[in-house]
Amino acid sequence: MNERSEELVYSVNYITHTRDELIAHLKEAISSKRVEHILGVEKTAVELAAQYGENAEKASIAALLHDFAKERPDEEMRDLIISENMDLELLQFGNNIWHGPTGASLVQTRFGVTDEDILNAIRNHTVGAPEMRLLEKIIYVADYIEPGRHFPGVEEARRLAYTDLDAAVAYATEQTLHHLMEKRAKIYPKAIETYNKWVAEKTKEH
Ligand code: GDP
Ligand code: FE
Ligand code: FE
Repeated sequence: MNERSEELVYSVNYITHTRDELIAHLKEAISSKRVEHILGVEKTAVELAAQYGENAEKASIAALLHDFAKERPDEEMRDLIISENMDLELLQFGNNIWHGPTGASLVQTRFGVTDEDILNAIRNHTVGAPEMRLLEKIIYVADYIEPGRHFPGVEEARRLAYTDLDAAVAYATEQTLHHLMEKRAKIYPKAIETYNKWVAEKTKEH
């Protein structure tokens, strides 16, 4: 299985664009700093896919598109949340929480992506979900540990990612919640559901 993202050649099963075309699109729509982050997520996701037996092409596409809506205007995001009948609780939050679900919707219309694994991985990459399939876990963790991330604990998260993916999901969830609470940030309810399933319920002593 291919572990090197640059060498990937896409089939036409998941997207009609080539990898180079997709990257060219990103470079037009997104700031260069964020493109660098996205390519780091892709590299990491393709490595994790090889290790855990996920399709490398799906990992690459989901990673390249995971932050597609991150720089879209708030108005466009609000309209999409309403027109696509998404959770209206989203309106109490901002782009940090919106760009996953709205990104999944945008890549469906803009790039013709229909694969539910890829769409869910994009949709849930920020707050996770109580139940996550392999590709969702890979993107959630790769976003947290890509080479451009520098924060206390990232080395431990990297070590866990390559030894026990579920433990890495739990670690990233716990650290993110902890960080948000320290800042007294408003927590999106689904982030709590992820925490309850991946952290609280996995801890033996309550
Ligand atoms: P990025 O898009 O690559 O920067 O990373 P993410 O999509 O994982 O996260 C975007 C931002 O959302 C980060 O700053 C997270 O800390 C923040 N975030 C994650 N969950 C929540 C939440 O429940 N509430 C709030 N307010 N922010 C959150
Ligand atoms: Fe994101
Ligand atoms: Fe990201």
